[in-house]
Amino acid sequence: MTDQPTPHNSLIGRRVPVLDQGWIELQDIMGDDLAIVNAARVSFLGESKGPERDKKLLFYLMEHRHTSPFEQVEFKFRVRAPLVTWWQWVRHRTWHVNASSGRYTAFEEGDFYVPEEWRLQSRDNKQASEGALTGPDSDALTGKLRAHYEAAFNLYQEALDAGIARELARLFLPGFAVYYTWVIKVDAHNLIHFLRMRMAPDAQHEIRVYAWAIYEHFFKPALPWTAEAFETYIMPGLGPIQAP
Ligand SMILES: Cc1cc2nc3c(=O)[nH]c(=O)nc-3n(C[C@H](O)[C@H](O)[C@H](O)COP(=O)(O)OP(=O)(O)OC[C@H]3O[C@@H](n4cnc5c(N)ncnc54)[C@H](O)[C@@H]3O)c2cc1C
Repeated sequence: MTDQPTPHNSLIGRRVPVLDQGWIELQDIMGDDLAIVNAARVSFLGESKGPERDKKLLFYLMEHRHTSPFEQVEFKFRVRAPLVTWWQWVRHRTWHVNASSGRYTAFEEGDFYVPEEWRLQSRDNKQASEGALTGPDSDALTGKLRAHYEAAFNLYQEALDAGIARELARLFLPGFAVYYTWVIKVDAHNLIHFLRMRMAPDAQHEIRVYAWAIYEHFFKPALPWTAEAFETYIMPGLGPIQAP
């Protein structure tokens, strides 16, 4: 893991694809590893004591869950994700969110999530999946899903053409599959909490891939010391092997 942070200006505006037509884009970022260390040292006028001691302090903060200095760093993302993902994401009350409105903007044909594979229901965990359907059965199911989306979108369009308001016409759309774009903001402490829960193997794939993308493409490059401390104390054993 590199010790050097990637400069903010080469991270802001970076857009990373997720799922079949989703993405995450970093809109803004405030603070870095040193801002966390300096916040913890506010009583001493926030002076750096050199990289070695600064990093040691940051690790101490993470190990002992001295969390408030991590709130001094903020990330703002623009994210396109299907509602099945937002349904879980929005449970994290510490994020600030603004959503695109289906009352204001009409949905377009193809604004729907098609999974890469059909995971099977886990036999011993009611809230999990395991393995996947393979071969022609899988392709046939995907074909049916696409036909379902097309039929639903045609009904939606028919209602709009009949003058029905967008806020009601959308009842024809397959809710969990619809892609929405949101602007979301969070501080590093609450992002760490989100990542711990949503990068874990028991999180649903459709949110896990977003959590991993945030971690790999934005969190780790922007906050290399914090990421190393996170992997040491919060998610030990984290490795590419666990990445979805
Ligand atoms: C694998 C998995 C399965 C899940 N299954 C279900 C399910 O079946 N049903 C379901 O309803 N949810 C489910 N959830 C959602 C889960 O219960 C949490 O609502 C969600 O993960 C957000 O966590 P949080 O409240 O800690 O996060 P945040 O809302 O971001 O809050 C972060 C922390 O701030 C504090 N906090 C925030 N708001 C308050 C408040 N108002 N009062 C007191 N403390 C507060 C808490 O300490 C909290 O841990 C599941 C989550 C996961 C990861």
